[in-house]
Amino acid sequence: MPSLEGKVAVVTGGGRGIGQAIAIALAEKGAKVAVVSRSASSCGAVADELNARFPGSAKAYAVDVADHEAVQELGKQVVADFGQVNILINNAGVTRDGLLMRMKEEDWDTVLDTNLKGAFNTVKSFMRTLMKASDPRIINIASVIGLIGNAGQANYSASKAGLIGFTKAVARELAGRAVTCNAVAPGFITTDMTGELPEKVREEVMAKIPLSSFGDPKDIAHAVLFLASAEARYITGQVLAVDGGMTM
Ligand code: NDP
Repeated sequence: MPSLEGKVAVVTGGGRGIGQAIAIALAEKGAKVAVVSRSASSCGAVADELNARFPGSAKAYAVDVADHEAVQELGKQVVADFGQVNILINNAGVTRDGLLMRMKEEDWDTVLDTNLKGAFNTVKSFMRTLMKASDPRIINIASVIGLIGNAGQANYSASKAGLIGFTKAVARELAGRAVTCNAVAPGFITTDMTGELPEKVREEVMAKIPLSSFGDPKDIAHAVLFLASAEARYITGQVLAVDGGMTM
């Protein structure tokens, strides 16, 4: 995989799971990484790990991506700290599952505010610095559930389908400035988010995966590395499913 030496990346939800794997993969390729998560402890631990391996490579930012003002401040702080941003990874996401009959307004709002408005907030915050950067990239971590829907996840499905629409609109709007914007749609990846699911649900999902295994966060990180590379310059507005064949 090509080098990302000299590039600066922002990874939201970089404190655990898929975001942590993405942050590590980017740093291993030579990028500097702004690790963003809700809690200072999780993004702080990942930044510490990266700095131990690659001194001066990372900084932690405890910011709620749903908070518009806080994310605008984050943009200013990251540019002050690193001088530029080339790669924005919108990975922060949450679930509040439940059938519609039982889903509360708060469950809808929390998921849409984090998964969809969070990406709007970061793109607004970082678009000016991205437009000036070399090989500028926006990569949104969507979900196969945004493509096919899922009972019990109306809020999550809507947020991820919305994120895919947002990806295509941003791709068209920023194409003139050579900023590419793509989405990666993970299938079932082993993280805290999927760890909560009952064994019966896991078995049902497994039966639908042609490659007969759950994905690892590194599988998503590898797809992100490619889309972040200079070599992916002619790819924009696309959704890359990384799902073991689940949605082909
Ligand atoms: P995890 O629950 O393991 O980690 C989520 C990360 O997002 C954490 O670091 C968390 O912060 C951060 N986060 C959550 N809400 C906010 C917020 N409001 N502001 C800032 N950071 C926030 O999730 P996964 O790694 O499993 O998922 C990552 C992404 O991939 C999500 O967008 C998810 O929807 C998507 N995805 C995951 C799949 C899977 O199978 N796991 C499948 C398809 C898509 P903190 O550590 O501080 O709590």
